[in-house]
Amino acid sequence: MKEYESLIIGGGPSGITAALYLLRAGIKIGWVEKLAPGGQVLLTEAIDNYPGFPQGIKGYELIDKFTAHLDQFEFDKIRDEALEIKDRQDKYLVRFSESEVAARTLIICTGAQWRKLGVPGENKYSGRGVSYCAVCDGNFFRGQEVACIGGGDTALEESLYLSKLVSKIYLIHRRDAFRGARLYQDKVLKDPKIEVIYNTIATEFVGDTDLTGIKLKDVKTGSQSLLNINGAFVFIGLDPAGGFFPADLETDSQGFIKTDHEMVTSMPGVFAAGDIRSKYCRQVSTAVGDGATAAYNAQAYLEKNF
Ligand code: NAP
Repeated sequence: MKEYESLIIGGGPSGITAALYLLRAGIKIGWVEKLAPGGQVLLTEAIDNYPGFPQGIKGYELIDKFTAHLDQFEFDKIRDEALEIKDRQDKYLVRFSESEVAARTLIICTGAQWRKLGVPGENKYSGRGVSYCAVCDGNFFRGQEVACIGGGDTALEESLYLSKLVSKIYLIHRRDAFRGARLYQDKVLKDPKIEVIYNTIATEFVGDTDLTGIKLKDVKTGSQSLLNINGAFVFIGLDPAGGFFPADLETDSQGFIKTDHEMVTSMPGVFAAGDIRSKYCRQVSTAVGDGATAAYNAQAYLEKNF
């Protein structure tokens, strides 16, 4: 069985950064990525808020640059999905579909996915009008009309962010009361650019090449309508990518891993970084910082314990 000083599970910006730091420190690592490296960033058309790229950069181009940095080093890449973590006192065993490896430390960077509505047209128009990230894509709809879907903190906060960019926002919520904080609710209700549509669900995204509208249904009356908009932002929560976590790994109520500010989890030698952590600000820049911090502390843990 292959054995590593540190196994990094997940190949998004936090996993790439953790790998880079540990490789530069001469630590023997394994790096697990079930698909292509990059995570959610690969789904992002353009990133306008990562330092060093004043004109913005396409998600896949940024990941190409990140991985080119890693290519200077020789290390094991495991193209598989972690299925189980077993604690064996001085090491962890991680099971994959066809193999098992051992590691003294783990850095979990498996990320999260924006929850999808699962209605017709959503996949077709994703990146062509349907978005899950206002900070990433809001600028593309400057001066245009958009819809936001959801009623939690994210939907309220992101609608307020978007209202500085777009001409009009229809905020569509399935109930008649928001789940998000009162502070945001008050601001949203006072914002002249935001029109709230309560008790309504989106049933289909429509368009030609790009999105042109959303079919809506009033859940109280059953009446249906078509809302013409240029963009639609879906903010109905996030799902952690973490079906393989051991029971001892403490998570929040939604399944995201709890860490302290050093990326230390409830299990010794297990660190978490990036979107899989329980935190508010999920950005490439914060993921990179998490990855560096986790690697630094994994190295310190190895020096102290082995
Ligand atoms: P959330 O709190 O889970 O809210 C999701 C919202 O989407 C809810 O209003 C929910 O409606 C709605 N929704 C869920 N599934 C839906 C569906 N299939 N169709 C239509 N609507 C649907 O998610 P979140 O807003 O992304 O927030 C996630 C966590 O991060 C929360 O703990 C939140 O407090 C936190 N957060 C905090 C801040 C901040 O404090 N600055 C900012 C962002 C996020 P119902 O209300 O009817 O269930």
